[in-house]
Amino acid sequence: MNLIILGPPGSGKGTHGEIIGKDYSIPKISTGDLLRKEVKRKSELGIKAKKYMDAGLLVPDNLVIEILKKNIERSSCKNGFILDGFPRTINQAMALEKIAHIDIVLNLSLSHKTIIERITGRLTCKKCGAIYHIKNIPPKKDGICDICGGKLYQREDQKKEVVENRLNIYEKQTKPLIDFYKNKGILFNVNAEGEVDVVSKRISELLKRLIKQLNQNY
Ligand code: AMP
Repeated sequence: MNLIILGPPGSGKGTHGEIIGKDYSIPKISTGDLLRKEVKRKSELGIKAKKYMDAGLLVPDNLVIEILKKNIERSSCKNGFILDGFPRTINQAMALEKIAHIDIVLNLSLSHKTIIERITGRLTCKKCGAIYHIKNIPPKKDGICDICGGKLYQREDQKKEVVENRLNIYEKQTKPLIDFYKNKGILFNVNAEGEVDVVSKRISELLKRLIKQLNQNY
């Protein structure tokens, strides 16, 4: 099963991608994570990507498509994969069609207000990368990671001005993908408001139904 999770920043693509991946034993590929790894390594690609990422802009298509292609071709993806954060433009979606067949696209939707609250409240551990939220998942000690004692910080692209910028870009460049996949008959909407467990249940029930249908069609 090859699946895409679409949705605005903060809609829970990463969290739910991870849960679905565990349930179906298929890897989740996040282009955001792959790019952040390159930035950390200070590779040529990472250096090029950083300035776009810090400003909340999209990294140019050719760079992202290249890194995605390399990862999908790995043997761990032979039984399927989940894409989180890719495609983000029609151009990327068209490039993806040449790389792999997509069975299902889940579209997570939620309000502007919830998006801002979710993202700007996030804190990340500098040392181990664990993620917290000021209100929803607070650390036991202010500013300190429960797991490794590392310092917590707010990612550059999670600051309010940058988040607004990312949302504008989502509206202009990524939202058209909803119609792109709707026209192919493989887009399914999920209400992403509420606690992780509640949204996760909505997704797993929908997927069970869709997979049954898919198997019948094969
Ligand atoms: P994410 O963790 O998915 O929110 O991605 C973080 C940042 O990485 C984005 O704000 C973009 O700058 C960049 N990025 C991730 N995926 C893509 C993509 N498919 N196309 C362009 N830029 C991307």
